[in-house]
Amino acid sequence: MAENYKGLTQVKQTEEFEDLSWQKGALCLQTEPELFFPKRGESPNAAKKICATCDVGLECLHNALDHHQGESGIAGGMTEGERKKLVGKSRREVDRVFFEIEAINRRLR
Ligand code: SF4
Repeated sequence: MAENYKGLTQVKQTEEFEDLSWQKGALCLQTEPELFFPKRGESPNAAKKICATCDVGLECLHNALDHHQGESGIAGGMTEGERKKLVGKSRREVDRVFFEIEAINRRLR
């Protein structure tokens, strides 16, 4: 009984900290992972363009800001530096910036 209770608590805590169910729609999981971690001097545009057509981009961005601050790579259509500028902003402001960036990324070559 106590073991079950502990198990349920652990599951609940994990879900509260990081719900990854959105990743089922992640386009990056169907492409080359290296694209999303460009080396110094390489363009992030190929990854950003994929992000711009990904159905879970906004969830991805919020997840990166909520749980993975300071990590490298492209997430939610943004570089680490671009995401850093959103730290401390309201969710509404993050959403607004996301849709602006998504529109720009769709036009990348
Ligand atoms: S927005 Fe980009 S990084 Fe995030 S899940 Fe979609 S393709 Fe992957």
